[in-house]
Amino acid sequence: MRRVVLATANEHKVHELRQILRDLVEELDLEIVSTADFEDLPDVAETEVTFVGNATLKARAIAEATGLPALADDSGLTVDVLGGSPGIFSARWSGSRAGADASRPAKDRANLELLLEQLADVPDEHRGGAFACAAVIALPDGRTAYSVGEVRGRIARAPKGTNGFGYDPIFVPDDQPGGEQRHLAEYTDAEKNAISHRGRAFRALIPAIRELLAS
Ligand code: IMP
Repeated sequence: MRRVVLATANEHKVHELRQILRDLVEELDLEIVSTADFEDLPDVAETEVTFVGNATLKARAIAEATGLPALADDSGLTVDVLGGSPGIFSARWSGSRAGADASRPAKDRANLELLLEQLADVPDEHRGGAFACAAVIALPDGRTAYSVGEVRGRIARAPKGTNGFGYDPIFVPDDQPGGEQRHLAEYTDAEKNAISHRGRAFRALIPAIRELLAS
């Protein structure tokens, strides 16, 4: 069994990635661990200005520190009328509004509320945006590969649903069957993974993961 480390401390991402990669894990007899299974790993500062750049930083640093192949994701919500923001700043859009020591759910809530305030005057036809994700694999020898994925939708006027995390309660994916207008936080895990930016990015990375792990 070959160990692969997920370079994220976000338990929602770990949960989603375990499901997205389930078939590959079986096929290649992998054991997926996360940074929570290690002590003294570096806290990687996201100093790049693109999702691919930041995901690559995280994957490289964790592969080097653990000596294991590492998978990383950098993702966020891009709103058209805001020129692509919050984008790479999605996790910290509301700064210290929720309090410096706030929990992740409290920060997620503050981020979402600030975004709703900022878009309060924006009419429905201009509330389009997308979740975007960069997926990266890095080997301890420095080789990397990446792919990207996105899901388009619009920003609702109020939150709905309790599944998922982050901005899921205010995101309404496009092209829903039967013209439904469900918010992403009303999707089951499997439904979200089937259409999500993270699902698309990691499924697109699978051939590169196979190739790099085989070499
Ligand atoms: P990262 O951990 O630096 O990649 O930051 C990702 C941030 O983007 C999260 O904290 C969320 O605010 C947002 N985000 C990314 N993916 C999702 C998702 O699947 N649902 C909702 N929000 C997401």
